[in-house]
Amino acid sequence: MLGAIEAGGTKFICAVANAEGTVIDKVRIDTEAPEVTMGHVFDFFNQYPIESMGIASFGPINVDKNSDKYGYIGNSSKVLWQNYNFLGNLLAHYPNINYQWTTDVNGSVYGEYKAGAAKGKDSCLYLTIGTGIGGGAVINGKLLQTTRHPEMGHIRVVKHPKDADFAGNCPIHGTCLEGLAAGPSILARYGVEGNELSTNHEIWEILADYIGQALVSYAYIMAPDIIIIGGGVSKQAQMLPLIREKFKEYNNDYIDLPDLETYIVPTGLGDDSALVGCLELAKEALEIKE
Ligand code: ZN
Repeated sequence: MLGAIEAGGTKFICAVANAEGTVIDKVRIDTEAPEVTMGHVFDFFNQYPIESMGIASFGPINVDKNSDKYGYIGNSSKVLWQNYNFLGNLLAHYPNINYQWTTDVNGSVYGEYKAGAAKGKDSCLYLTIGTGIGGGAVINGKLLQTTRHPEMGHIRVVKHPKDADFAGNCPIHGTCLEGLAAGPSILARYGVEGNELSTNHEIWEILADYIGQALVSYAYIMAPDIIIIGGGVSKQAQMLPLIREKFKEYNNDYIDLPDLETYIVPTGLGDDSALVGCLELAKEALEIKE
């Protein structure tokens, strides 16, 4: 059977599926201390004969197979998980499984590439805008991952004139994309959550401006066939049209693109992108001997 772990900063979703990828059982586990959460993860998978697993984790994570920290969570904002040997603990319990290990956003982009909004495309980019900002990409059918994984949320963008006084919210960089445009930046500016502000509040145009700048950069560097936007902030209905508007303005007709309604799109799989991606990775892992 196939196993999937979508490991997020607030919850883990674990699932088992048959060889075709049909989900047989699924569980949601709160992200607490590693020993507590992983205890529940093992209780769940112990019920099934798992042959292969796809694991997509919050990070930063170590994806360098030649590193002695391969499979570890790095300098995460989830302090209890810093330097936790995630993959090692999993393999200690299930020593005979095949697996693929990647980031949460790579799990999502892979799901969208195989079965969602990017099905049939060769290259795609997935950006989540929620409590943080992160991106994953598939380029010519392969996940973009080397000895490191991309950190698309932490690039620099040009400050919006109406946002000049905001110091930014990223503990590392201050005014990086995540510091300026992730959900918590709204609370930091106004003292209220985004869903308490009206849909025509100026903040949405400011956030869309930052996202639009970033998407133009990603599009120029990676040349994806389609860009998929997920995460809580993107569920605000006014956001996608505003993002497309800003993208159009900053691209200024430089690269020729399809209609932006078909180029910058919402997820095709909703909240299931990463889980579907993990099961696809598990399926492929059956062919790989680690
Ligand atoms: Zn940052």
